[in-house]
Amino acid sequence: MRPHETPAVFGGRPAQRLLKVVDGLTFARGDWNPQQCAWLAGTPDAFVPDLPWGAVLTSEDADGGPSDPRYAHAPVGTAPATQPDERPRIRVSQRGAAAPGDVIELLPERHRIRTRYRRGANANTLFATERCNSHCLMCSQPPRRVDDDWRVKDLLEVIALLDDDVPELGLSGGEPTLLGDGLLDILRACRDRLPGTAMHVLSNGRRFGTTSLANGVAGLRHPHLTWGVPLYADVADVHDYVVQSAGAFDETLRGLLVMASKGLSFEIRVVLTAPTVARLPALADFIWRHLPAAVHVAFMGLEPIGFALANRNALWVDPADMSEPLTRAVHYLANRGMAVSLYNLPLCVLPTALRPFARRSISDWKQRYLDTCDGCAVRERCAGFFEWVKPGWIPRGLHALNDVEAHEA
Ligand code: SF4
Repeated sequence: MRPHETPAVFGGRPAQRLLKVVDGLTFARGDWNPQQCAWLAGTPDAFVPDLPWGAVLTSEDADGGPSDPRYAHAPVGTAPATQPDERPRIRVSQRGAAAPGDVIELLPERHRIRTRYRRGANANTLFATERCNSHCLMCSQPPRRVDDDWRVKDLLEVIALLDDDVPELGLSGGEPTLLGDGLLDILRACRDRLPGTAMHVLSNGRRFGTTSLANGVAGLRHPHLTWGVPLYADVADVHDYVVQSAGAFDETLRGLLVMASKGLSFEIRVVLTAPTVARLPALADFIWRHLPAAVHVAFMGLEPIGFALANRNALWVDPADMSEPLTRAVHYLANRGMAVSLYNLPLCVLPTALRPFARRSISDWKQRYLDTCDGCAVRERCAGFFEWVKPGWIPRGLHALNDVEAHEA
């Protein structure tokens, strides 16, 4: 796992804050301006093509150099610099902290670089805003009342540096719709720059009740755009309690119905918490009857971070104690032809009948396995745990599966 942020030593002051990390192959295959690129040199004395790179990136513990095969694809017609090298240099403390294709943000004032996009990661997400109009008990990204409309310009710059063949891209917050027209600008840029990329935007859906937003999104005609909208119960008081916002259920339901009427693609996301698990079968029936346009329903284990840590006693349910209502809800929807998944739940703690629905859902940069997982026969396809899982959040049924159990899973 590569770190999200990495300590770095800056030599010179780069003109750009965001850079595309390139080696010869990445640079040659894209239409990149070298001033917006960080040339990945490996060792400080390695070959650097004589172009006006935004920065030259080296690592303290790297080996290799001019003969390293990673540099075999240097741009045609370039040669090692013969003049003293004035290009900004960045030395990261860890080899592999940045790889060709990544997008990095330079934080010289903090002596760090931050990876904004990882080529080949199983999930890349753009962060839209810290603001939110809900205040969910288990929010993993507690909202803040800040003016962060600057993120629109920032994200447009990131999007311009992404690989144009990235298969999937997420957008989350906060509540992205609070960016207003800025959100439309971001989605439009993704549509134009990444026409083959499946976009997945997390939103509470509450602002879609105003048709102007729905019309704006529908007017973009993004070919691969799906909205992930949380719905925690079939009744308002339970949903509004979890969201900590009176009226949220009505607004979200109205928003979902408007989205359906405009032909927008959406999935329903159900986070599994103590206040909601008993009503899962009723919620499944509600979704089937009132929201059949949903393209997918995801039942999701809690992420032990943010507000969830403070509200652990009010939220936590061991998977063994929710298996009956969860199994009924999942099978109710699946038997009616709806696509259903289980996210963030280890295979070993699920009933055998639910394991086919479990996905390896946790982003690789924040996923881990525990000691118990050593030798488990299904480790490669298990969601495992969030990197920050702690005692108190570990299911009591955790156990390594043998080959026979793996066959059943
Ligand atoms: S023991 Fe196996 S099934 Fe259980 S969490 Fe670890 S890898 Fe997953």
